[in-house]
Amino acid sequence: MSCLFCRIIAGEIPATKVAETEQFIAFRDITPQAPLHVLIVPRKHISTLNDLTPSDDALVGAMTREAAAIAKAHGYDTSGYRTVFNCNQDAGQAVFHIHLHLLAGRSLAWPPG
Ligand code: 5GP
Ligand code: ZN
Repeated sequence: MSCLFCRIIAGEIPATKVAETEQFIAFRDITPQAPLHVLIVPRKHISTLNDLTPSDDALVGAMTREAAAIAKAHGYDTSGYRTVFNCNQDAGQAVFHIHLHLLAGRSLAWPPG
């Protein structure tokens, strides 16, 4: 299995999990870009956002609500946070298994670089 996030999901590579369900897991980013930086990752391998189908709508909805729940659990629901899916080269996607970034704990610039 060559996909890094499939290997984390399979338990072959350790990660600091913060939540998991039947559909996805959430773990700390190894190179955090904010005091709280979590990746919410579907157990199903989907390479990019371009590969989503209508059958994934509930999955993506649940991932998004999990991001909000994790932000709230860490006390960032009122101060704010950012969620991001990077897609392909111009967005800097490095791992081709979709993942929702949750960033919180500092003021985040807009527009992003
Ligand atoms: P992308 O640029 O594809 O949207 O984000 C990939 C993210 O995965 C990056 O923020 C990077 O720090 C994170 N990452 C890469 N390798 C690992 C790893 O082995 N473990 C964890 N927890 N995060 C990783
Ligand atoms: Zn994968």
